[in-house]
Amino acid sequence: MSPEEIRRILEFYQDLGIKSIYRRGSQLTAAPMPAAEPETLSFDQLPPLPPRAPSARPAARPVPPPAPSFDDAPMTFDDLPPLPPKPGRLQPPPARPVAPSAPAPVPAMATPKKIDLIPLAPENDSLQQIRTDLGDCKRCRLCEGRNKIVFGHGNESSPLVFVGEGPGADEDASGLPFVGRAGQLLTQMIEGTAGKEGIAIKRADVYICNVVKCRPPENRAPQPDEMEICGQFLFRQLSAIKPKAICALGATAAKAVLGTKEGVTKLRGNWHKWGEVPVMVTYHPSYLLRPYNQNAKREAWEDLKKVLHFVYD
Ligand code: SF4
Repeated sequence: MSPEEIRRILEFYQDLGIKSIYRRGSQLTAAPMPAAEPETLSFDQLPPLPPRAPSARPAARPVPPPAPSFDDAPMTFDDLPPLPPKPGRLQPPPARPVAPSAPAPVPAMATPKKIDLIPLAPENDSLQQIRTDLGDCKRCRLCEGRNKIVFGHGNESSPLVFVGEGPGADEDASGLPFVGRAGQLLTQMIEGTAGKEGIAIKRADVYICNVVKCRPPENRAPQPDEMEICGQFLFRQLSAIKPKAICALGATAAKAVLGTKEGVTKLRGNWHKWGEVPVMVTYHPSYLLRPYNQNAKREAWEDLKKVLHFVYD
């Protein structure tokens, strides 16, 4: 085997990360022979090659000679020891047999809790009948933390009904709507505005109720399902009273009565309709109690003036 052929083989093994190979007899190997002392071939022992002729093409990756020979004996790749695996190269795992996919089991649906819905505005409905139907209501989760159901209070044949959001702590304790600080402000709003406008009404002359009749925990806003369930009693109350106008106090009341997601700021000041009944939306008194809401207070008084004049003029 010529030195150039040996060099090519060495270059081939060098590309594989092998620094030297061993020769004994006619065999080449990348690992030392166990029995006899093998002869080690390395680049240092080879005579320098004559310079290669310049080539226009980039040097191709050296390819092992197709039929190398060693000591005049013909040699092929089949004669070479098997190549070691390249370091750091992960072998793909053998493909797993794919089991035929079974249809995913369908989870059992929880049976929805049955809620007794009473038809809206039954014939000859009355507030007494609605209160009887409400009973010791446990139709929604708000019953769990309440002390008293706050059904509504005031003149049961009033031409004006105020609808709030839900009872707070004072209302929950007393069973009456709007008796806390927000309630006192509502009284002032009604009686003060009516007095200034020359309308002889007191708070007791109107009817006041809420969307939900039980206090939500931590005074949170009622949730849509709670509003929907309890709202049927509100609608029956409104249908039974048949007011000339409704005043919705705050976003929750506006949402329940008008079925809208618009905010109070957009809705207030203009007339809307619940069926054929005109509805004025204005701020909830508890919102007006915040010290930085002076503009809202003025707007609420304007809204109330419109309502009182519409109903009592
Ligand atoms: S909020 Fe209304 S529906 Fe819910 S438990 Fe109270 S009364 Fe019944």
